[in-house]
Amino acid sequence: ARPAASANGKRAAEDDRPANLRNIVFVSSEAAPWSKTGGLGDVVGSLPGALAARGHRVMVVVPRYAEYEDTHDTGVTVELLGHSEVGYFHRRHKGVDWVFVDHVSYKRPNLYADELGPYGDNQFRFTLLCLAACEAPLHLPLPPAEGGEPTLYGEDITFLANDWHGSLVPVYLAAKYRPHGVYTNARSVLAIHNPHQRQGSYAEEGRSVNHLKAGIATADRLLTVSPGYSTEITTYLGGWGLEGLLGARQPVLSGIVNGIDEDEWDPSTDVHLARNYSLADFKAGKAANKAALQKELGLPVDPDVPLLCFIGRLDFQKGADLVLQVAPWLMSQGVQLICLGTGTPDLESGLRWLESSFPEQARGWVGFNVAMSHKMTAAADVLLMPSRFEPCGLNQLYAMRYGAVPVAHKTGGLRDTVIDFDPFAQPPVGTGWTFSNFEAGGLMHAIGTALTTLKKHPGDFEGIQRRGMARDSSWNGAAREYEQVFDWMHMDPP
Ligand code: ADP
Repeated sequence: ARPAASANGKRAAEDDRPANLRNIVFVSSEAAPWSKTGGLGDVVGSLPGALAARGHRVMVVVPRYAEYEDTHDTGVTVELLGHSEVGYFHRRHKGVDWVFVDHVSYKRPNLYADELGPYGDNQFRFTLLCLAACEAPLHLPLPPAEGGEPTLYGEDITFLANDWHGSLVPVYLAAKYRPHGVYTNARSVLAIHNPHQRQGSYAEEGRSVNHLKAGIATADRLLTVSPGYSTEITTYLGGWGLEGLLGARQPVLSGIVNGIDEDEWDPSTDVHLARNYSLADFKAGKAANKAALQKELGLPVDPDVPLLCFIGRLDFQKGADLVLQVAPWLMSQGVQLICLGTGTPDLESGLRWLESSFPEQARGWVGFNVAMSHKMTAAADVLLMPSRFEPCGLNQLYAMRYGAVPVAHKTGGLRDTVIDFDPFAQPPVGTGWTFSNFEAGGLMHAIGTALTTLKKHPGDFEGIQRRGMARDSSWNGAAREYEQVFDWMHMDPP
């Protein structure tokens, strides 16, 4: 077991101290709970706290999209791009300096787009964010953790730029600051969470401005949110047009699997559950949650019927189409299937088709419902995650922690986190089942194996559940891996 999970400010154990303490500046377009549209917001909401708990001085720079009540105006302003004045708001929370860049272009109902499409000035908005983040350590005095007078973070900075929105940080370090002798000891990592959610061009050949490409070319190191994805992203199928450049930078490219919010996703304290449970009593706990969910959704209440769940965005990435494709076969296996998601109209209709075609066995809930996602994860025997591609994936991590066994496509972060069950290993290993070919036959085979194990070899199935529940998905573990990347990077010349 790893020492104290620390996203909530607990101190790392004595024997788990980082070798080098750093001044770290995150640059991101989202940070939960203030702003979040997906996994990026979760990561930037939790990883900084885990690094701060390990002793680093950590600042997170994000746009001030709204009048966040819990922040205060520092009064510090800087003039950027010749004519744009930005201000800095601040809040200290979980040991982290959360810094909100104030500019009129951020104050909109949505983060990136409205019903007409992406905002036309997104490149300007996030260029401004990058410059504001580069200026903050030089101009924004903040109270140190140990108390006393506010001090600057200074020039010896580890920048952690995220996705295309932060990609001009390494560019400015190389082009604007270092040539003038500023930030000569600073280094930058570019973390790629969602390369396909790019602003503009998908083309590598440079016919339009591509911030992400510029960041990939100039950052000192590159990270993806799993090792598996760091390899796939250098290939034709996984590189979204940037595979050539990513391949060229492979020596500085690696992957670190995300942690999870262990407070929000803990079956022993989860407020959404009919009954809380832990490793000690998970069989009874899961049975109670299964019965409650079957009752709530009007499905036959039956402890013996295998319950399979799917949760996720209904789009090309998540493979809900494959679940719908195998659904008629699945129903013939005498299971229950519950799907939860929002997304494209065709897949939303697919969920409704599922429920109306198999009212005694299936539910298709179209909507974004956090409570339902927790209840499903607690109740499920098996969680389906047939993503076409998956930079990291969180649902499989939640599922394992809740004793739901993942059946997943062997791709990206799923490849790294779902270990195939091997009954012949001594002792047996594995936390789920994966399938390699993205096709109905692959998914059916994996589900079939899971169902046979559940029914015919319940002891084996229970072992898989136990190993999943015991898996370390803490941010403290991920934070140690980030430190390793920082240490490598600071030994290299820029
Ligand atoms: P991505 O960030 O690619 O969408 P992840 O698996 O990394 O996928 O994270 C998605 C998060 O959103 C998970 O916490 C998942 O439970 C949640 N989620 C997705 N769709 C829904 C939904 N319809 N209702 C509730 N939660 C959802």
